[in-house]
Amino acid sequence: MPDAEDKIEIDIWDAHKDYLRSVLIGMTRDIDLADDLLQETYLRMHDKFYTIRSQNPRAWLVTVARNLFLNHKRSSRPHAPFEDDVQDSGEVWPGSSRHIDLVSLNQAITGLSRSLRSALILRHYGGLNYAEIADQLSCSQTTARQRVWRALCQLRQALLTTKLEAVEMQCCHLNGEKLLDYLYQILSKEEIEGIEGHLSGCLKCKKDVEGLKEIVRSLDVAEHAHKFVRIDELDRDGVPRLYMWACLDNGSDVEVSDWSFTADKEILLEYVRFHGEEISPRVTGETDGQFDYDVHSSTPIEPGESIGLLLVARPRTPLPEYCAQDLGQGRWRYSLKGWPNARMEWLSVVSVRLPEGARMLSTDPPATQVRSGLSTTVLWKKLLTPTEEGREVSRGSQFEGTVEYQL
Ligand SMILES: [Zn+2]
Repeated sequence: MPDAEDKIEIDIWDAHKDYLRSVLIGMTRDIDLADDLLQETYLRMHDKFYTIRSQNPRAWLVTVARNLFLNHKRSSRPHAPFEDDVQDSGEVWPGSSRHIDLVSLNQAITGLSRSLRSALILRHYGGLNYAEIADQLSCSQTTARQRVWRALCQLRQALLTTKLEAVEMQCCHLNGEKLLDYLYQILSKEEIEGIEGHLSGCLKCKKDVEGLKEIVRSLDVAEHAHKFVRIDELDRDGVPRLYMWACLDNGSDVEVSDWSFTADKEILLEYVRFHGEEISPRVTGETDGQFDYDVHSSTPIEPGESIGLLLVARPRTPLPEYCAQDLGQGRWRYSLKGWPNARMEWLSVVSVRLPEGARMLSTDPPATQVRSGLSTTVLWKKLLTPTEEGREVSRGSQFEGTVEYQL
C-alpha cells in the first residue's frame, strides 16, 4: 500500500501528465523525445517532491519539462558552436528569435535555384545526411554536399550588408566543404581541433566562418516556413490523435491580436496553443464542412512576425476516413495524406505512432526511420514540391503514406 505522501504524488502526476505530454509534444515536435522527457520530468518531480507541494504543480511541472527540453536542445544541436541562440525563456518556437530580418531571409531562400534550395532544406531542416539527400534528389553525394555549400554561400552574399570581396573560401588551408562539415558538426574531434587552430590564426577564415554561422543561425528562425510536422498517434481501436503545427505570418503592417483559421467539422480540437499560450478557440461560423475558429493572443503579433499554432485533435466519431482499418486477424492499415499548395519546396515530417505492442509490417512509401520501443513510431521525411497555381494537385506535392501493422 502506498503511504499518504505517495498517494498525493501519484494523484498530482495523474492529474497533469496528459496535459504535460501535449505541452512536451508541442515543444519537441517529436513524440518519442516527448515521452522520454515526460519520464525524466516524472523522476525530477519524484526527487523534488517537497518543493512542488507549496507551488502550483502544473506550472512547476511545465517549467521542469521546458528546462529539460532546452538542455536536450543545447546538447544535440547540429551546429553546437553557437552558444547564444537557445531561447531560455518564452515559447520554444523556431520563429521566436530574429538574427536577420525574416522577410529578407525568406526572399533570399526564394532566390536560390531549386536544386540548391532543395538540398539545403533537406540538410538543414531535415537533418538528412548526404547519402539520404543524394537519394531524394537523384544526384551524387558529392553533388549534394556542394549544393548545400553553394546555397549557404549564396544566402550569405544575399543577406550580409557589408560588401565582402569574395564569399568562396580563398584561403589555401580551409576548403568550403570541410567548413560545411564543421558548421554541421559532423567532423571528428581531431578535425575540429585542426580547424579551430587554423581559425585562431587566420582572420580571413575567421570572418567567413562568422558570416556563415550567422546564416545557419538565421535559417533556424525560418524553420516553420520550410518544414511541416504532423504526428498521428493511434489507439488500439485505430483512432488517431493528431498533432499538427501551422505557422501564421502577420503580413500586414500593423500589430494584430486576433486570428482565424478553419478545421474540419469532424475534428474535435482538444488542445490549442497559439503564440506560446494555451487558448480556447471560438467557433464563429461554418462553411463546406469546416468550422471557422477565432483565436486571440494576449501579446500582439508584430508586422512581419511569424507565430506558431499547435492543434491537438481527434475525430469526433470514428469515421473510416480518419481511422485505421481492421483487416482481420489482428492486421490493420492506416492511411494518411495532407497539405497540398505550398509556395515552395518544403519538407514534410510525418510520424505515425502505432498502438503499444503493435508490430510494423510494411509502409508505403518506405519509411525514413522506424523507431521501436514499447511503441513503434514510423517516420517519413520527404521533400514536397509546390503546386502550380490553377493545376491539379500532383502526387509529388502532397504527402501520402500507408502503414500496416499487426496487433
Ligand atoms: Zn585561413
